[in-house]
Amino acid sequence: MQLRIPGPTPCPDEVLQAMTKQMINHRGKEFGALLRQVTQQLKGVFQTKGDVLILTGSGTGAMEAAIVNTLSPGDKVLSVSIGDFGDRFANIAQQFGAEVKRLGFEWGTPADPETVRKALKSDPATKAVLVTHNETSTGITNDLAAISAVVKEFDLLLIVDGVSSISSIDLPVDDWQVDVAVTASQKGWMAPPGLAMVSMSQKAWQAYAKAKMPRFYWDLGKAKRFVEEKGNQTPWTPAVSTFYALALALDMLERETLSKVFARHVRVGKAAREGIRSIGLSLFANEAYASNTVTAIKGPEGVDLKKLLQLLREDYGVVLAGGQGKLDGKIFRIGHMGWVTEADIGEVVAALKAALPQARS
Ligand code: PMP
Repeated sequence: MQLRIPGPTPCPDEVLQAMTKQMINHRGKEFGALLRQVTQQLKGVFQTKGDVLILTGSGTGAMEAAIVNTLSPGDKVLSVSIGDFGDRFANIAQQFGAEVKRLGFEWGTPADPETVRKALKSDPATKAVLVTHNETSTGITNDLAAISAVVKEFDLLLIVDGVSSISSIDLPVDDWQVDVAVTASQKGWMAPPGLAMVSMSQKAWQAYAKAKMPRFYWDLGKAKRFVEEKGNQTPWTPAVSTFYALALALDMLERETLSKVFARHVRVGKAAREGIRSIGLSLFANEAYASNTVTAIKGPEGVDLKKLLQLLREDYGVVLAGGQGKLDGKIFRIGHMGWVTEADIGEVVAALKAALPQARS
């Protein structure tokens, strides 16, 4: 089976095997050593000397954590959105009482840093900027370095959804001055769902000290205290089995080396785009900003996308994703993050080529 959705992603056998280990006391020494080790390795992948905290939950939980730990009701926030996940970030902030200004860009295109600059200039009271690094719903990677440079001209807090990029696409958290970055284990990490990771800069902790949004389960200060004062613990019961898996997957990532992992995703992304074009299909996204972890493809004229995805799944063992939000029924997507090679993409493209004529009405 080729599971090629943008998460959960397939896990290597060794990673799955790691999960068969017996449970351990999450307040004991063995778990403490595991948490310390995994945290150290994560800091390497996030490329940060700041804190990385591991939460039991999914990426959306980490997005909520990023917001409630740094903001107060009434705070002005600029939400830069290029798709469904960008909109979700804005919705979370709004739900918790932030005064959200939405800066949306056409789906399939990246955010324009100059437009972000204008928006920030026009509203000097803005406190934080929310932005998605890799927009999974449209298959676009934003130029985060350029956006960050603009945000930092105004000395604002930069909060980034790196759910479908960190570990697959370069996001050097410290170099790009990202104050809070979030991701989740079921994406490029080659691990199952269950854990979310959040990095916090010094500036983010300063914001934490003043943040008044309600928080309990997601209190990152509490998570930090449990690491530092209780010998590497988590405040609440962690997803122990996912920790086993993530620890092993991180060893694999380190063996391959981060730069080679990023380079592999560049090759795989290119193979996906070339493969799609080679069978006469059209890419949805602006190619100059096309994501190397997910490829969005326009639904071809006369093809029933539901039928196409069903045929691929049932007759070819290839599982792809449909469109999300307002793109439902209009595009479909190939996920290629984590444990993936060009050969996997070759199989997906061959299956698509064979299934397409059958899905034409
Ligand atoms: N942001 C992005 C960019 C994502 O791709 C996803 C998951 N597809 C999420 C947020 C939400 O993560 P989760 O489904 O783990 O809550």
